[in-house]
Amino acid sequence: MKVLQKTQTIVRYRNANNQVYFGIVEGEEILQLSSSFDGIVKNELKFDGVRVSFHDVKILEPVAPSKVINFGWTYAGHAIETGGTANLKEPFLFLKPATALVPNEGDIVLPPESLTSQVEMEGEVALIIGKRGKNIKEEDALDYVFGCTIFNDVTARDLTRKDPQFTRGKGFDTFGPLGPWMVTGVDPTNLNIKTTLNDRVVQNGNTNQMSLSIPYLISWVSQIMTLEPGDVLATGSPSGSCPMKPGDVVTVEVEKIGRLRNYVR
Ligand code: MG
Repeated sequence: MKVLQKTQTIVRYRNANNQVYFGIVEGEEILQLSSSFDGIVKNELKFDGVRVSFHDVKILEPVAPSKVINFGWTYAGHAIETGGTANLKEPFLFLKPATALVPNEGDIVLPPESLTSQVEMEGEVALIIGKRGKNIKEEDALDYVFGCTIFNDVTARDLTRKDPQFTRGKGFDTFGPLGPWMVTGVDPTNLNIKTTLNDRVVQNGNTNQMSLSIPYLISWVSQIMTLEPGDVLATGSPSGSCPMKPGDVVTVEVEKIGRLRNYVR
């Protein structure tokens, strides 16, 4: 797969006629593609001559994955602040349901106060898998990455501390903002990541601070589960996650990719 070599920004959207397309971002406009995700991954870009404005479409999550793979405690500072293991000997893996995903500008809906009282953000770099892979070698791992996007691993911290596993605390609807688009040709192993809650910077890190490497994580998880095109792999969060309340605006910015902004309701 050669797609990582060229930088392109690919967005997924719904137009006024309720049709879903991928498109290439060019400034304030989108060059509409009639290609499927598989076609785009194979660099078979079919332009149908339509340009649309961002103002006229609804931006969707950049892919519709079969699974959202998450790695926890990949940054020592965040592991320590959440009571995890600072220097993992092997990855800490969990899944989020695809139903948790919301796009850029979407709402994060807090569960009822009786169920959880500590919902926090976790700004993360996410990888979009481009081709099916099983038992991937570490040296080949980045060939399976089509592009990079931004993820907010929203977490009910009170529930992840209380439950024996993370599914409930991580799995509520809207606990997975993803987007605003995917960017190809970006090296995911050295990207600045910054999370802002309203006007306050709360997280500031770089993927080069991870305690386990991204190629190792891809290889490791592919020994367990087959990676499918469109799967999302969230690489973990730097330190600084903190509780959010209704009315807050949370923004995750990643160098070379863009900005993912969501509203807490
Ligand atoms: Mg996380």
